[in-house]
Amino acid sequence: MTTVRIRVLFCLLFGMAISAAVMGEPASRPNILFIMADDHSAGAIGAYGSRVNQTPHLDRLADEGMRFDHVYCVNSICSPSRATILTGKYSHLNGVPTFNRFDGSQPTVAKYLQAAGYHTGMIGKWHLGSDPTGFDEWSILPGQGVYFDPTFIERGGKRVIHGYVTDVITDLSIDFLKNRPKDKPFFLMCHHKAPHREWNPDEKHRLMFANRTIPEPPTLHDDYATRTDAIRECTQKVFEDLTRRDLKLKPPERLDAAAQKKWLNTKPTEVEVEIDGKKRVLRGDELKSWKYQRYMQDYLACVQSVDDNVGRLLEWLDQNGLATNTVVIYTSDQGFFLGDHGLFDKRFMYEDSIRMPFIVRWPGVVKPRTTQEAMAINADFAPTFMELAGLAEPADMQGRSLVPLLKQERPADWRTQYYYRYYHDPGDHNTRAHYGIRTETHKLIYFWKKDQWECYDLVHDPFELKNIYSDPAQAGVVAGLKAELYRMKKKMKDDDQYANQQPLPGVD
Ligand code: CA
Repeated sequence: MTTVRIRVLFCLLFGMAISAAVMGEPASRPNILFIMADDHSAGAIGAYGSRVNQTPHLDRLADEGMRFDHVYCVNSICSPSRATILTGKYSHLNGVPTFNRFDGSQPTVAKYLQAAGYHTGMIGKWHLGSDPTGFDEWSILPGQGVYFDPTFIERGGKRVIHGYVTDVITDLSIDFLKNRPKDKPFFLMCHHKAPHREWNPDEKHRLMFANRTIPEPPTLHDDYATRTDAIRECTQKVFEDLTRRDLKLKPPERLDAAAQKKWLNTKPTEVEVEIDGKKRVLRGDELKSWKYQRYMQDYLACVQSVDDNVGRLLEWLDQNGLATNTVVIYTSDQGFFLGDHGLFDKRFMYEDSIRMPFIVRWPGVVKPRTTQEAMAINADFAPTFMELAGLAEPADMQGRSLVPLLKQERPADWRTQYYYRYYHDPGDHNTRAHYGIRTETHKLIYFWKKDQWECYDLVHDPFELKNIYSDPAQAGVVAGLKAELYRMKKKMKDDDQYANQQPLPGVD
């Protein structure tokens, strides 16, 4: 075939693709832009009813697409969630229950899509210990990465890019899109570091929440009555466990580097602040309220930059004619406690920790301004990408494609419960290992190293404040849940392989 003929053929096919897109029908094999933040609670997104901030660009995505209200992670911690998203499998099958190095020789959705002709990219926080595989291009933060002037690891080595990490990751994502081969669909994973601890905002948003009083969540002062030891023993409490570094307190200048570090890592029981030009020492309840406000001010300011940058990506798609045939997904690697139950961080099987925001825009298929109640898990993401790419789901993936839900065609046998397991005990937050089951109405949690149980009625006690495990009136309910828990554990092929693994070094 001559070059001219190839060009003519290309123009014809390209023209057909454009006309299909213009007609509002998705051309086959849409592009996939997967944007994932780190530790972004649905409670800090306008579209999810946030009482604490506004996120116009994420809200735009929800306005133009579908908001899922029950998407959960199967192990609420950073690296494991990422491994599950890539493989469609639980931690015990993908080998990442805590901070284990991801074995990049195993099958991943990126590899499947790449082999099927997608141009694949991974930009931002990776946090899996090994180099990415299955990606044509990748540029990742080492470990957690840093907020300012971040270093990136790429095939050619390392480079430092000046700027704020959320802006830089977006810049690199746009570069990937600009430079992509135009004859292939793309699959881009754009993974933000923000709003992960230690919550360092950019200059633009640093003071955005400084003079506001952020509403406290209803369970901030949870007294943990009726609970097991686990929540009392954990060190992820807003009032007790935020360090001077978290609270952005300035160390005295006279200290040397080692003493400064120690000072910053201390959890203060009193804090000197300046209010209206006067110095005051805060203690007790006053200090508690101040700590919550201080934590949230920085967390929310970090979220604001993520929202701005999602806006930049959406605008770039608009300007480059890619909005119509690109499925855009926004999520976070898990949920996060925004003072809920007096906590920050995640890990526990309580709702604020396991629930992931999940918004999908797919013009021509997903109806704008729709919501989805069906229960989904992060192991569903890989099968979803497979179906979007026109590929069959591999038999060893444990999730299920969400495409029918996107089309509002919920299969009759869709899941009504899911299995959860967290391993990192004691870890840096002294959080007890546990596994459990969440149904549409109840949650049963087993802290296996303690041999202690918690059970919640999510219909009558949505904030999970009353452990009904030992309530004689609930014995039948508990027994039924327990049977389902063991059945699900077996079904998910969990044979306790990692039950006694000591926590690996790592911070999440
Ligand atoms: Ca995370």
